Amino acid sequence: MLNIILMGLPGAGKGTQAERIVDEFQIPHISTGDAFRAAVKEETPLGKKAKEYMDKGLLVPDEIVIGIVKERLGKDDCQKGFMLDGFPRTVPQAEALENILSEMGKSIDHVINIQVPRDILLERLTGRRICKQCGATYHVIFNPPAKEGVCDKCGGELYQREDDNEETVATRLDVNIEQTEPLIKFYEEKGTLRNINGDQDINKVFEDITRILRGQA
Ligand SMILES: [Zn+2]
Repeated sequence: MLNIILMGLPGAGKGTQAERIVDEFQIPHISTGDAFRAAVKEETPLGKKAKEYMDKGLLVPDEIVIGIVKERLGKDDCQKGFMLDGFPRTVPQAEALENILSEMGKSIDHVINIQVPRDILLERLTGRRICKQCGATYHVIFNPPAKEGVCDKCGGELYQREDDNEETVATRLDVNIEQTEPLIKFYEEKGTLRNINGDQDINKVFEDITRILRGQA
C-alpha cells in the first residue's frame, strides 16, 4: 500500500512528477477537481450538493469537499494506494483526512513536497512568451526561440501575457506560500513530510521521489 500526498508550489514541476509517479507505481492520481467532476457526473448525493454550489459560483463547503474525497478514497482502485494532489489545502482538511483514513484503517505514508526557491519559481513562471502573429508559445529558459523575441515559426514578435508579469505572479505565489506553510508544518510534526529538491533536472527529481517511495531513502 502506498498512500501519498504530493505537494509543490506553482512552477515546482508537480504535474510532471505526478504523471511519472502514477505511471511508475500504478496508483490512482486523485485531484479534487477530478473527484468533483466524477461525483457530479455520477450524480451522487454529495455530487448533487456540490453542483448546486458550483452552479451558483460559490465555494463548495469543506464538509462536502471532504465527503467527496472520502467517497473517492473508498473506491476499489485505492486498495493498493493513492496519490492525493491538491488536497488537503488547509490544516482542518488535513485533520479531516486523518480521521477518514483512520476509519478505513489507513494512513498517509509520505507527503512529498517538491521544493524550489521562490526566485527560481518566479523565473520559471514569468518566462513564457507568446507570438503575436501565430500564438506559438516559448519559454525563455526551457524553450527559447533561436533569436530572442522572435518567433521561430513565423518571425512574429514575442510578448509576455499580463498574467505572466512578475508582479502578478509574485502575488499569486506569495498567497500560495502563505497558505501552504501551516500544512507543511502539520506534516512535518507528523513526521511524514519529505522535502525534495525540485531545483534540479526533472529526471533527478523523479529519482529522489522514487527512492523515498520505494523505502530506499
Ligand atoms: Zn509565430
